[in-house]
Order: sequence, then C-alpha cells, then structure tokens
Amino acid sequence: MVLKFCPRCKSLLKFKKLEKGILIKCVKCDYKSELENKNFLKVEEKINKKSKVGKGFVENKDIFATYNNKCKRCGYDKARIIDMGVFYSDEDNLILIQCGKCGFSERIGEAT
Ligand SMILES: [Zn+2]
Ligand SMILES: [Zn+2]
Repeated sequence: MVLKFCPRCKSLLKFKKLEKGILIKCVKCDYKSELENKNFLKVEEKINKKSKVGKGFVENKDIFATYNNKCKRCGYDKARIIDMGVFYSDEDNLILIQCGKCGFSERIGEAT
C-alpha cells in the first residue's frame, strides 16, 4: 500500500521516482521506504482508475483528507493534499498543500 503520511511522526511523505520503483521519504524524520516495481505498477493502475471512480478507489479518500498545516497567507490550519501526478513525472516534488480556506497552495519539500 502507498502511504501518504509517515508512520512514525505523521508528517507528509515525499516520493521520488527510481528506475526500479519509488523511494518514499519522510519530510521530517529519517523514515524511508522503497517500493519495488511490482508495487509501483499497482500504484499506477490505481491512479488510472481515479478518473473512472471504480469500485475500491472511493475508499481511498485519504488522499484528500484534511491535513494539519497552517496556511502562510490566512492562518487557517486545515489544508488539502494535492497529488500532482508525481508518479508520472521525473520531478519528485509534485505534491501541493492547498489551504482549505483561501486556496493558497504550497509545494512540499525541497529540491534534492
Ligand atoms: Zn516521519
Ligand atoms: Zn489560507
């Protein structure tokens, strides 16, 4: 399964595409995990189903769950995680946090 949040400190996880899979890293602590190609393909499959709203995917609402992040602009403390299709990109920082109130969005993580 693909984790969105660190099992240790509950911070957001960052994904990096590797040749043979995906590297998952916590933005705060040193938690790290690698997904191999086998699992990686499953992930892509799942994402493709997003547009079809197939059975099973609906349960995966945690992607859009509210996330505790204080907005830099308005100070609202709930934000939404937007996955910009990181699995299709060569970039590793395509996850945004968007304020649930004013819509201000912030890119997660620093360039590696
Ligand atoms: Zn962590
Ligand atoms: Zn805001």
